[in-house]
Amino acid sequence: MKIKIIKSDDKRLKEISKEVVDFTKDYKKIIEQMKDICLEKRAYAAAAPQFGINERFILIMTVDEIQNINEEVKKYTIKSYFNPVITDMVGQQTYYESCMSVDEATGKVKRPFRIKFSYQDIDGDKHKKTVEGFEAIILCHEIDHLEGIEYTERADIMYYDVSPEQRMNIRKKNPHEIIAISETFKYSKPNQIIKKYNEDD
Ligand SMILES: [Zn+2]
Repeated sequence: MKIKIIKSDDKRLKEISKEVVDFTKDYKKIIEQMKDICLEKRAYAAAAPQFGINERFILIMTVDEIQNINEEVKKYTIKSYFNPVITDMVGQQTYYESCMSVDEATGKVKRPFRIKFSYQDIDGDKHKKTVEGFEAIILCHEIDHLEGIEYTERADIMYYDVSPEQRMNIRKKNPHEIIAISETFKYSKPNQIIKKYNEDD
C-alpha cells in the first residue's frame, strides 16, 4: 500500500482513531513511508490519520545535535509510538507550529512544557516516557491528530497564505518560548486572532 498525505478538508483528520490491537500487522512498511514523506516535506513528525489511516500511531524524528527546529534535518533518530496516552502535563511553552496537512499556514500554540506518556512499541511492548521542550510540542501535536484535533483549533494567532520563507520569518521574530516549567497545564479554548503576514510584524 502506498500512502499519501491528506489535507485538513478531509473528514478522516477529524475522526478519533482506533487503538492498535493487532501488532502482527506490517506497520514497519507504513512507518518507513511516513518517514520518507517527512524527510521530503521537511517535517519532524507525522500521525497515521494524516495518511487516511485512523489508527493510533505516530512517528517522531528526534533531531540530533540541532537546537534550532528550523534548521535542516541532517542527523535524526526515528521513533514510533503506538497507542500513546499522555498521563501528565506540566509547564507551558509556545511555538509557531505547522503541519503537513495544512498548507501555507502557521499558528502560535500553547503546549505543556513537559509531558509523561505511556505507549506501546511496534512489537506491542508497553513503555512509559517523559519528554520536554520541542519533543513535547511535537508529541502533543501528533497525539492531537489521533483525537481528530488540528493545531489550527488550538492556536491563539493564525497566519494563512504564508510561504515557507514567511513562516521562517514569523518564527525568527517570534521564537519558541518557555513560559513555565512546573505548574499543571490545561488547554484552554483560544480567542483566536487571524493575522495577515506583514514583513514589519
Ligand atoms: Zn500535524
